[in-house]
Order: sequence, then C-alpha cells, then structure tokens
Amino acid sequence: MTDEPRPRKILSLKNPPTRPLGPEPIRKPAPPAPPPPPPAQVFAWKCKPCGAGFNVGDELADDVVIRCPSCNAKIGLVADFRADPIPTKLRARPVAPKA
Ligand SMILES: [Zn+2]
Repeated sequence: MTDEPRPRKILSLKNPPTRPLGPEPIRKPAPPAPPPPPPAQVFAWKCKPCGAGFNVGDELADDVVIRCPSCNAKIGLVADFRADPIPTKLRARPVAPKA
C-alpha cells in the first residue's frame, strides 16, 4: 500500500476563448464631459478692507447693517448703499460694470 496521493486531473478548457489575430482594438471610454463652468458671479459692491465682492439685497431695510461676507467687516448701513453720492464712510466701493 502506498500513501502517494493520486495525481490530480489537469483541467483543460474544452473551448478556449478565441480571439481574432492581430492587435486588440484599443477601446477608450469616452471621457466624461466636463461640468459647465459656473456662471460668473456679478457683484455690485466690493469690500474695501479685503476686496471681496458682495451684493446688497434690494429687499433689505435701510437700517440693516451690511457686513462683508468674507472678512466680516462692518461695511455700513443699507441706506448708505442707496445714498447718492455714496457716503465716504461706506467701507465698500461699487464695482464698475464691465462694458
Ligand atoms: Zn471684506
């Protein structure tokens, strides 16, 4: 009696996958379309201390204090933005619309 393990049967594929001769065609997936650029934000005002742009809502009351959304500096009252000419104490300057 021998303790030799029985040789395993070598499995072979009956139907090996065939592929056409020659180089395989390189299929590149189409690159995903880049997201559309966000619309350029238009600001009516620029913070004097930091230069960040912001807008003053038309719906705000005249006595609302506007603060810079970027540096939180107190810019002035809504009434100051609506004054003409703009008071010099207002810590913002109007952004000139691009022609
Ligand atoms: Zn600022």
